[in-house]
Amino acid sequence: MKVLIADDDSLLRQMLQGQLASSGHEFVFAPDGLEAWEILQAENIRMVILDWMMPELDGPELIRRIRDAAWPGYTYIILLTARSGREDIVEGLNLGADDYVTKPFRREELLARMGVGARILQLEGRLSELLAREEALATRDSLTGLPNRRALSERTRVELSRAARARTSVGLILLDLDHFKRINDQFGHAAGDEALRKVAEVLQQNKRDYDFTGRWGGEEFLVVLPGTTLSQTEVVAERIRKLIQSIRLDLGGPDPVELRASLGVVCAPPATPPVGIDDLLLQADHALYRAKREGRNCVRLHALPEAG
Ligand code: GH3
Ligand code: MG
Ligand code: MG
Repeated sequence: MKVLIADDDSLLRQMLQGQLASSGHEFVFAPDGLEAWEILQAENIRMVILDWMMPELDGPELIRRIRDAAWPGYTYIILLTARSGREDIVEGLNLGADDYVTKPFRREELLARMGVGARILQLEGRLSELLAREEALATRDSLTGLPNRRALSERTRVELSRAARARTSVGLILLDLDHFKRINDQFGHAAGDEALRKVAEVLQQNKRDYDFTGRWGGEEFLVVLPGTTLSQTEVVAERIRKLIQSIRLDLGGPDPVELRASLGVVCAPPATPPVGIDDLLLQADHALYRAKREGRNCVRLHALPEAG
């Protein structure tokens, strides 16, 4: 592990360098708090051993800055102090130090306390890994890797209120694959999954950076286009329809399999309070239903009444 030691006492730094050389850790030394702060901002160092009294920036101030920094991982702080008064220790711990060692100290004690810190950092690492995985599970569709309905709703809601403030509109496209059941029936469920993954890939690769798309459910996908009018959204929907029509899937049969989709388009005009996402989706669904009724493989719009 990489450990930063900040102490203005050059003799102590030299001594530590010698004593800790064989400890298996990598050490970086700073002669004052300011330099320590600069090193911490530039490098990913998770364990800091620092002196209480230092020029430029003292230990307490450095602790405050580290705790305010909100870096992604935890920083374990051991306070090294000649001031053995109980009040300093209490103050240091209250400021956010995790442990302290009073000077003079034994090499073994410092190493043992670093070991405690390493265990805590390891636990924290495992916990954030678990949380990240949990978060991915909760917001990603496992088949396609795209955002799931929950994540899409959340992001769309944010986008709608942002658009209301900025007085711009938001386009929504609800897409449903045509006669998808037949793919499953003819080629099996795994082939159907393969087709869904392909559609997801096409949607993801052909969107603008600030648009977002995800799996709304089953064989339905949602595309959200911030800052886009109804007619612009229609153009995008038509392009998506053609892209899906041009997909050729090898599902093990004699010929490549083609896909078709029906698309319902709606546009939320700038309005305060923002148009509710449930209303919008309902309207997109009506438009989609019309596309199905009027022959499939086409785009239909739901025109909202003019705002104001
Ligand atoms: P329509 O043109 O009216 O939309 O016809 P459709 O067959 O696409 O619609 P329907 O709602 O009757 O059937 C949807 C099919 O999508 C049935 C369901 O098994 C399939 N499906 C939904 N989710 C998945 C999935 O995750 N994997 C696979 N392989 N199939 C799925
Ligand atoms: Mg369908
Ligand atoms: Mg459907």
